[in-house]
Amino acid sequence: MPTIPIVESEELTQRLAFFESECRRRGLRVTEQRREIFKAVAASHTHPSAEDVFEQVREKLANVSLDTVYRTLTSLEEMELLLRVGTTGKERFDGDLRPHAHFICAKCGEVYDVFYDKKYMMLPLREAFSHGEVRQISLQYKGICHQCSSAHEGKS
Ligand SMILES: [Zn+2]
Ligand SMILES: [Zn+2]
Repeated sequence: MPTIPIVESEELTQRLAFFESECRRRGLRVTEQRREIFKAVAASHTHPSAEDVFEQVREKLANVSLDTVYRTLTSLEEMELLLRVGTTGKERFDGDLRPHAHFICAKCGEVYDVFYDKKYMMLPLREAFSHGEVRQISLQYKGICHQCSSAHEGKS
């Protein structure tokens, strides 16, 4: 993996605090396993896959399997603590719960965040807000990222 942009510690502390309070609210134990798996996603801006998370936590969690990581990520998503992005078979996870969309490169699979400025909100989004508070947006733009298209244009 390329250099991993790290979420600022203050933001990460907030995400972990929210995770712990949500577990408690639902009567779930904050196990080391659950916490480490959540943290691996919450600390990253790169929308890691289950495999990426597994690679990251396997040293700390001796008996963890990829299957366990996947199931834990799925349950964290069901608890609305993480978002699932990408396409089936190439799923990635996102710890940033602010409403935003994604640009997904069809070639390298890189996932880029797309944030909205409420001031310049697209009309459909404004209409969505008229029905209530928008907590999640699952809008995916698919295309070829600049890195891939410039690699393609590069002369031989
Ligand atoms: Zn790309
Ligand atoms: Zn995102």
